[in-house]
Amino acid sequence: MTTTEDREPLADCVLCGEQTEYPATTKGATLCPVCEWQEAQRTACSG
Ligand SMILES: [Zn+2]
Repeated sequence: MTTTEDREPLADCVLCGEQTEYPATTKGATLCPVCEWQEAQRTACSG
């Protein structure tokens, strides 16, 4: 019995290659939660 075969494929993180929470059909760059958080920190610290 397969349980996850019917799930929508998820996009890979453009930075680390980990699976993201976004569907593969998401347009633009997709980031995993970790990279999203790091990007947020970087943005917050800039300047
Ligand atoms: Zn990532």
